[in-house]
Amino acid sequence: MFVRVTGDDWTRLGPDAERVAQFIGHRAYLRMERGHCAALEVRRDPDGALDFFCTIYDLRPQICRDLARGSPECHGERALKRSETLNR
Ligand code: SF4
Repeated sequence: MFVRVTGDDWTRLGPDAERVAQFIGHRAYLRMERGHCAALEVRRDPDGALDFFCTIYDLRPQICRDLARGSPECHGERALKRSETLNR
C-alpha cells in the first residue's frame, strides 16, 4: 500500500495494470515485489553498477509523475515510508 493507483491511472496502464497493480479492499496500489515496486527493474550496467529502470515510465501513476525523483519531497516520502514500514 505504498503507491496509490487511481481509476485514471488504472485506465492509463491498460494491459499492464494487472501486472503491476492490485486491489487491496476497494483501492488499488502498485504491487510490491522483493521490496520494491513491481514495475521497477533492477539491472546491472556493463560496469556492474546497479541501474534502476521504470518499465512503465510513460504510463506510470500520477503520484510518480508528481514526485520528482531526488526532490526534497521524494526524500521526505522515502523517509516516511521507511519509518512506517519499520514500525509495522
Ligand atoms: S516511477 Fe515507476 S518504478 Fe517508480 S514507483 Fe512509479 S511506477 Fe514504480
